[in-house]
Amino acid sequence: MKILIANLGSTSFKYRLYEMSESASEMLSKGGFERVTEYTPCIEEMLETLVKDGYLQSGDDLDAVGFKTVLGKDLSGCVEADERVLDALEGFKEVAPAHNPAYAEGIRCFQRMLPKVKRVALFETAFYQWMSPAAYTYAIPKAWRDLGIRRYGFHGASHKFIAERTAELLGRDDVAARARGLYVNGPGEFSGEPLRVVSCHLGGSSSLAGIQNGVSIGASMGFSPQSGLPQNNRVGDLDSMAIPYVSKMLGLSVEEAERQLNKESGMLGLSGVSNDARDIEDAANAGNADAQLATDVLIDSIRHWAGSFFFKMGGAEVISFTAGIGENDAKLRSAVCSGLEGLGVRIDEIANAATIRGKEGMISTPDSKIKVVVIPANEELVIAREVYRKVQAN
Ligand code: ADP
Repeated sequence: MKILIANLGSTSFKYRLYEMSESASEMLSKGGFERVTEYTPCIEEMLETLVKDGYLQSGDDLDAVGFKTVLGKDLSGCVEADERVLDALEGFKEVAPAHNPAYAEGIRCFQRMLPKVKRVALFETAFYQWMSPAAYTYAIPKAWRDLGIRRYGFHGASHKFIAERTAELLGRDDVAARARGLYVNGPGEFSGEPLRVVSCHLGGSSSLAGIQNGVSIGASMGFSPQSGLPQNNRVGDLDSMAIPYVSKMLGLSVEEAERQLNKESGMLGLSGVSNDARDIEDAANAGNADAQLATDVLIDSIRHWAGSFFFKMGGAEVISFTAGIGENDAKLRSAVCSGLEGLGVRIDEIANAATIRGKEGMISTPDSKIKVVVIPANEELVIAREVYRKVQAN
């Protein structure tokens, strides 16, 4: 089955073409365009290239196109990208301004240009569909809640992959099968031994999820991806009263406060150095106190959320790290897991130091009660798998 994954930014169009089967996946081709103002010429050029390179006879050879949609009003899951999805993206365009209009436009272009090819949207919120109301409800007036203001959780594709892969690594076929089939079958009943995972996706944008027997019970990200851990240049969690206060004290409009929280906050705002963890670490090593504080805040925030999920799940069997920081930064992983021997977490510092991007591995000692693993993220493949499952199920 040939599946195209379209990754749409407000000024970019990237794609990957996969050949998928039940047991294997192969990426046939990838490419992209920058400084994009219109998707139609990009899609035309992409199709020409894929035909010229012999991967397709024409666009109609595609079995499906998958879209990693972020947030939809009153809609989530892995679903056919139809009018319902377009309405849901439109309904929350203010909450995800960089993503929703781009995906709505991209879906429409494919609809127009390749009407026979199936279109599937995988919402980043999909993995959190089974969170309890207690875990996703904010204590706000009913009229606000009725607008759809609640915790949604993001990075769902990445955390779901972790749910599957950790279960496979621990030889838990029952949990792996449950996690794999989640969007098609729902969670169903589960009566096996518990497998509880604290999943840390740490990159330019970061979040933690608590995963119990393959299903998420909680997310660090809330109503928008501007919440939870400090992000590269976005704020993360903040007391809502800070906004009216700062607007009064500094004379900022709500729009300007929002801009600063979205562009000049997070690791950049804290360190004053960069939005990139590598630069911040270099600066901290050179004695920059603000850079050190940025790193310390990130570590504290990861531990805060990890502790929350550990407590809610009544413990954990696995802590997992993924994405740019999670896969590369051995020092940060070690700091996150420090002082947890009493809980049964022991890091093998040699294995930890040797595990860098793209390498999967166990970084806890053999006698560590809680296993600590590093799992490379590959979001496009995750989406291709879900689109494949969705198309197979129909
Ligand atoms: P994104 O979240 O932006 O899609 P990634 O998951 O690749 O992308 O994460 C990118 C981030 O990973 C960079 O901003 C950088 O801070 C971090 N990173 C990459 N390599 C390292 C490293 N060796 N040490 C620490 N952080 C790193």
